[in-house]
Amino acid sequence: MSGSEPSTLKLPPARALRAFRPGQVGDDTVATYLGKGWSLAICCKACERLVEWTPPELAHRFGDRTTLRIGALVERLACSGEAGCGGREIAVFPHLYDGVWP
Ligand SMILES: [Zn+2]
Repeated sequence: MSGSEPSTLKLPPARALRAFRPGQVGDDTVATYLGKGWSLAICCKACERLVEWTPPELAHRFGDRTTLRIGALVERLACSGEAGCGGREIAVFPHLYDGVWP
């Protein structure tokens, strides 16, 4: 993530976060997000850490694999990295990217 643009992304309400199920993502794919100019907001249900994968980040991470379904992706995500709690229950939701895309 470049981190150069300010983002208006906010944590979802706690109720919505707790109620999230991977099935509610539907058939959206990485290409859907890129096409609509959405960031993928990734939020840990345990510690509420919030990460934004912007369209440039998604394009960089997934390259040619843009047919990957977000619903399949979310099942593989975990709250990892230095600041992560290791939780495996992750909620994702679209956020209209604040930067310029494409
Ligand atoms: Zn966490």
